[in-house]
Amino acid sequence: MPLKWCPGHQKFHSASEFGSNSNAPDGLATYCKVYANEIQREWRAKNSGKVQAIRREYIARVKRRNILLRAKGKLP
Ligand SMILES: [Zn+2]
Repeated sequence: MPLKWCPGHQKFHSASEFGSNSNAPDGLATYCKVYANEIQREWRAKNSGKVQAIRREYIARVKRRNILLRAKGKLP
């Protein structure tokens, strides 16, 4: 089994632990599957706060608009 360097874990894994990447010269992903998952999880953790803030702001805006419309008697 050929070995491939994983820059994430800074060690060699067997090639079977890497996902495929047809753009890479060796046809394998840069990081092993485990590390690629970790990167994705971290990205999601970092960005979920941003997504939630945008959603909260949107909901607040809709609520304010509904209150205004209700005040004008346009909503029940
Ligand atoms: Zn790795």
